[in-house]
Amino acid sequence: DLRLSGVQKSFGALKAVHGIDIDVPAGSMVSLIGPSGCGKTTTLRMIAGLETLNAGRITVGGVTLSGDGVTVPPEKRDMGMVFQSYALWPHMNVADNVGYGLRRKGLGQQDVIQRVAEVLDMVGMSDLGTRYPGQLSGGQQQRVALARAIASRPRILLFDEPLSNLDAVLREQMRFEIRNLQQRLGITSVYVTHSQEEALALSDHIVVMNAGLVAQAGSPTEIYDTPRNAFVAGFIGLTN
Ligand code: ATP
Repeated sequence: DLRLSGVQKSFGALKAVHGIDIDVPAGSMVSLIGPSGCGKTTTLRMIAGLETLNAGRITVGGVTLSGDGVTVPPEKRDMGMVFQSYALWPHMNVADNVGYGLRRKGLGQQDVIQRVAEVLDMVGMSDLGTRYPGQLSGGQQQRVALARAIASRPRILLFDEPLSNLDAVLREQMRFEIRNLQQRLGITSVYVTHSQEEALALSDHIVVMNAGLVAQAGSPTEIYDTPRNAFVAGFIGLTN
């Protein structure tokens, strides 16, 4: 569904991403993991259209979004994003935060109300629509951010370390909630994390990155059982 081919990105003299290929099959969840600075966030931002490419191509369903002289703007990519910082508007209540993008897209008032109720129900936040972000816990804020990302029924969901501001117990709980929702809706997803544990628990496929390159890509079992090299083995936490 989503495909990156030969994607490169430099910031001045620094090569952040060197010609990577990533395939995200329709309806699957692919995690990008790797140490700090390996290029995960840059890759996600290129998929979202927030960074341009120096070379290569990004396609969805065979249609080029970036590359070959094309750059589809972020708001036309049909993607939802969930960030580490929940990025909710503090002056808007929960329902307005979730409905804002839908209104901007021109959905009618009744449709917005219905869609907001539907997605708040999906994330277990039905009763809290009139609260303001400052009156919510971190986990609740992240549920609202998730509701907002799925409200427009995007073709693709992008996650950038969405759970790293939460405590360990909540992180584990939210991990399963995200995975359940992603599978239930069947949305093609890319999940950036520095936590190998999170990636192993969440994803259909894992892409291990190192210094702007793909060190290994495969199913969690493949990566865990047969790491291709010492870097992957070390990162996944094995000693063999
Ligand atoms: P982390 O886990 O710490 O978020 P990451 O794997 O997501 O790391 P990136 O944020 O993609 O890594 O960064 C890759 C490299 O590109 C780093 O060396 C970073 O300093 C550099 N970089 C990222 N964005 C910019 C920018 N706007 N200008 C200059 N350099 C940048």
